[in-house]
Amino acid sequence: MPRDEAGGSTPVCRGCGEHHDSYGFHPSSCRSGNREGLWTQRHDVVEDMLMYVMRWLGQSPIRVSRGARNWFGAAAMRPDGSFRRADVVLRGYYGQGRHLFLDVAVADPAGQAPMQAAPSSCASSGVAAELRALRKVQRYAPLAAAVSSAFRPAVVERFGAFSDALVGVVREVCGDRDRDALLHDDVTFSQSSRTTWAAGLLALAVVVADAAMLDAAIGLDVRHEGGGDDGDGGAGARGWDGAGTPRHWEIEGRGGHFWYEQAGRR
Ligand SMILES: [Zn+2]
Repeated sequence: MPRDEAGGSTPVCRGCGEHHDSYGFHPSSCRSGNREGLWTQRHDVVEDMLMYVMRWLGQSPIRVSRGARNWFGAAAMRPDGSFRRADVVLRGYYGQGRHLFLDVAVADPAGQAPMQAAPSSCASSGVAAELRALRKVQRYAPLAAAVSSAFRPAVVERFGAFSDALVGVVREVCGDRDRDALLHDDVTFSQSSRTTWAAGLLALAVVVADAAMLDAAIGLDVRHEGGGDDGDGGAGARGWDGAGTPRHWEIEGRGGHFWYEQAGRR
């Protein structure tokens, strides 16, 4: 078993069978990385924060990543009846019937493609975000153009770097104004402008969501939490039981509440 720098042995990833590294790189580049929705949850946190920030900035964002409405029309249809969709739309951003579509992604600078790119993500920040953004533009920009609208990729690297397009969107929506300290109680010297405040929240969301993703991955592989589909239900397994009911420490250890601790519930 490989040993990490601290002298211990590294646990095995139960998604792909490879060993974890000491720095938490593996869960973000694992070929089974989205098991139990690990990446989806990380993505959705950033999407939520984008919605929150846009609302506070006076926009009216609509979440279109789920739901029945097809915003892109016939061009987005797939043969099986499903359709391509972005994550968030700022309806009427460019005028009546002309929208701005945003699609969120969390890119990983430690992935193969960004590390082998020129310049490499090993040398400069934002390379992985730009690569991912390019792919998103290729996929969504024609769909948006077909409905007289525009598309911008809202790509953030897991360590906080933004794609240029997201910097542009934030800058454009925020303008060059400072926040009003008389209106908001969270104005600080380091985030006094609307731009730094919005960018700060988005970057915080992605790094916290990434940390939560790591914690969940370690929970699956080391503490053997959750799942139930790994067949490891025998002696020594510390996962939730077969009925899917978390035990006491599994709720309390994550800051959860029991039914008798919640107001208004019996
Ligand atoms: Zn793996």
